[in-house]
Amino acid sequence: MVYFDVVEKKGNRDVAFVYLLKSTKDKDVLIECVESLDPPFPPSEKWVITLSSQKGCPAGCVFCDASYYFKGNLSKEELFEQLNLILENHKNDEYPKSKKIKLHLARMGEPSFNDNVLAFLSEVGKNFQEINFIPSIATIAPRGREDWFYKLKEIKDNFFSQGRFQLQFSLNTTDENEREKIMPVKKWSFSDISKFGDFWLKENDRLITLNFALGKKAVF
Ligand code: SF4
Repeated sequence: MVYFDVVEKKGNRDVAFVYLLKSTKDKDVLIECVESLDPPFPPSEKWVITLSSQKGCPAGCVFCDASYYFKGNLSKEELFEQLNLILENHKNDEYPKSKKIKLHLARMGEPSFNDNVLAFLSEVGKNFQEINFIPSIATIAPRGREDWFYKLKEIKDNFFSQGRFQLQFSLNTTDENEREKIMPVKKWSFSDISKFGDFWLKENDRLITLNFALGKKAVF
């Protein structure tokens, strides 16, 4: 079954390609996925694949252009279709043998809102052992999704230990009031995030990253 058609592929092979995908079932659903390099690293050293985790996003962050619509979660199969589309384009080159392939689940979508992301990552861990994927989850830490994060930790410990998983909290400001304004969903406090970080990290894990989307009006 084909879930998406490629509407457009734009970019430059030295930096990145963005794929705009349109649902074959619902003409109003558009998502994106991206493959990029990290110059000066050659593809044999590092390659980054970024997948949408939802159809749009319900979080409504004011600085994000993925928040203009929301049409539900992507299924596990729809997540794999994005990944396979990019892998297929490189079946005859060295990219899939890269030493480090970051598999980024982020915009569009808040990955922790989608349980299918967990099933997807488990299957990647079980079935793609010949590819050195380093999953990377960027999240705004929504309240009420604690179980999702506990299950994510199990997946990290079972399949992606020894520094092969990156968790990123998108804080975007160090001011709690401003954080409420720019990311208007219930979220963990900074203290909750810190406690979870202590619980998450095991010896040799990759350290947790804190993301900040910079802009002229950013408050720190
Ligand atoms: S959670 Fe992420 S994708 Fe969703 S609106 Fe906020 S920044 Fe955009």
